[in-house]
Amino acid sequence: MAQHNAYVALGSNLNDPLNHLLSALSRLNRSNSWQLVSYSSLYGSKPMGPQDQPDYVNAVCQLETELSAYDLLQSLHDIEDEFGRKRIRHWGERTLDLDLLLFDNETHQKPDLTVPHPGIYERSFVLYPLAEITPALVLPNGKTVTEQAKTLTESGLDVLVYQSSISL
Ligand code: ADP
Ligand code: MG
Repeated sequence: MAQHNAYVALGSNLNDPLNHLLSALSRLNRSNSWQLVSYSSLYGSKPMGPQDQPDYVNAVCQLETELSAYDLLQSLHDIEDEFGRKRIRHWGERTLDLDLLLFDNETHQKPDLTVPHPGIYERSFVLYPLAEITPALVLPNGKTVTEQAKTLTESGLDVLVYQSSISL
């Protein structure tokens, strides 16, 4: 079966989000269904949407998998559930959010599977970490990740843990 290349965004803003993200990366690193190929540093960011919630910790990673995009997203939702995610409100606080950003060059336009993820072009907390692990990747709009990231301000992004100091 063909190996697919997927990019996944991780976010958390509840109950020690930094450790949640490290645990989530460790969890993604031990799966029979994919290989964790690379991951970014952990970034602190300000919340989108409701501002009366804690700051976020964000990262992105690259997976190689034989799963379909649909099955991969389902598995990612299962991991969110393992981490006790409760869907309280849209763009609201969560212990772990896993979003499928890109899956090969595939395009899906369904409510339960929208790929490329619609937020990929305007979210600095996605693009800057993505530029760290794959700067030259060409997005569906023809720009590289680095070029697209430069169209945004970093708007409050801080590196909290450098990639080189993460051991999973
Ligand atoms: P958000 O991440 O925008 O805060 P949720 O994580 O609650 O919102 O996801 C809302 C819905 O979006 C989920 O039911 C999920 O199935 C759907 N969805 C569609 N495409 C994607 C994708 N590429 N990545 C993650 N979720 C997606
Ligand atoms: Mg999500």
